[in-house]
Amino acid sequence: MPGFELFGEQEQKQVKDVLDSGVLMRYGFDGMRNGHWKAKELEYALAERMQSKHVHLVSSGTAALTVALASAGVGAGDEVILPTFTFVASFESVLALGAVPILVDVDDTLTLDPSAVAKAITPNTKVIMPVHMCGSMADLQKLQELCDQHGLLLLEDACQAIGGSYKDKPLGSIGDLGCFSFDYVKTITCGEGGAMITNNGTYYGNAHKYADHGHDHIGNDRGAEAHPFLGYNYRISELHAAVGLAQLARLDEFLGIQKRHYTIIREALEDVPGIQFRTVPAGGEENYSFLNFFLPMEEQAREAHQKLGNEGVDGCFYWFDNNWHYYRKWEHFTHKKSLGKLPKDVLEALPDYTQADFSASDHWVGRNISCLIKLGWSEEDVRNRARAMANVLGGIV
Ligand SMILES: *Cc1c(COP(=O)(O)O)cnc(C)c1O
Repeated sequence: MPGFELFGEQEQKQVKDVLDSGVLMRYGFDGMRNGHWKAKELEYALAERMQSKHVHLVSSGTAALTVALASAGVGAGDEVILPTFTFVASFESVLALGAVPILVDVDDTLTLDPSAVAKAITPNTKVIMPVHMCGSMADLQKLQELCDQHGLLLLEDACQAIGGSYKDKPLGSIGDLGCFSFDYVKTITCGEGGAMITNNGTYYGNAHKYADHGHDHIGNDRGAEAHPFLGYNYRISELHAAVGLAQLARLDEFLGIQKRHYTIIREALEDVPGIQFRTVPAGGEENYSFLNFFLPMEEQAREAHQKLGNEGVDGCFYWFDNNWHYYRKWEHFTHKKSLGKLPKDVLEALPDYTQADFSASDHWVGRNISCLIKLGWSEEDVRNRARAMANVLGGIV
């Protein structure tokens, strides 16, 4: 998955454009910038690639989620439904706004289970936030139906799934709002960065203002701009956007390599009885950044993880025991360990997750192994890896 593996001249050329003028900021300094507007250019390019009307770049994927929620008016006391299997950024972005993260079970897609989502909806629910973990998506049609029925927003966290699609639409472009991350380990990277996309002009207008201290971006004198509402600073720099431009131009090349490598490994594992692949909803295509599969039992998954590592098959994850991606190890969240006091709305409405029953999630995540697909492997590397994996797994199940 990581774009940092294939990094070179194109990225350097883009960054040099910015360094030559010295204008590192995305706004203003028109006369000095030699016509270079890297953030704007990347926003146009991403809008076209994602078939979305509007894109706003920000400083991280976490910032993208926060800005996306804020742009749609999510605030104190609003409930946002998100999965037990995700990255901590999901609940962080919700808490940053004084809103309440409501954790919900995942199913064999490793993303939100629509029937569990339906049960979690209350009069305070405002957003359903599926997270397209490890390159594949939730059942977006069912989630969209729930949103339509209850008047909720659909926000896709596509930070790990850029380039995947659902019913021929790019992931991230299907909901009311979609978010991407370009941090260092994502499919394309710019060091640190993110983007939110939407077809809604009001949300977009709110987002670019909110992400820049409330600046309305009217006219060409920043000091004279108005501030229609409170904002914050989630800006991206021109240097980061420049790297992102070079990487976005290579996205389809990266996806092609991932698909080739994924397919070789998957075909080798299809012959191992007892291995069940993750379900991809009908009409969905992964971005092939990970190959995900289940073993019949939790102990076997632990053993597989251990033995794959011992055999030199690196980059396979057992998320069930991971500190950052699964609710079981989020004791800072479940025990509300904040530096300062949390807002009253959050303290009153946050369920007691130390007592929660997410056995349905445990059933899937506890038996899952996720293997990172790298770009830099040779075909021989991939075939050797596929053989080693089939051997290890065949000896366990
Ligand atoms: C990486 C990631 C984020 C956050 O992105 P950053 O750019 O690291 O802040 C959010 N959600 C998911 C699912 C991610 O994998």
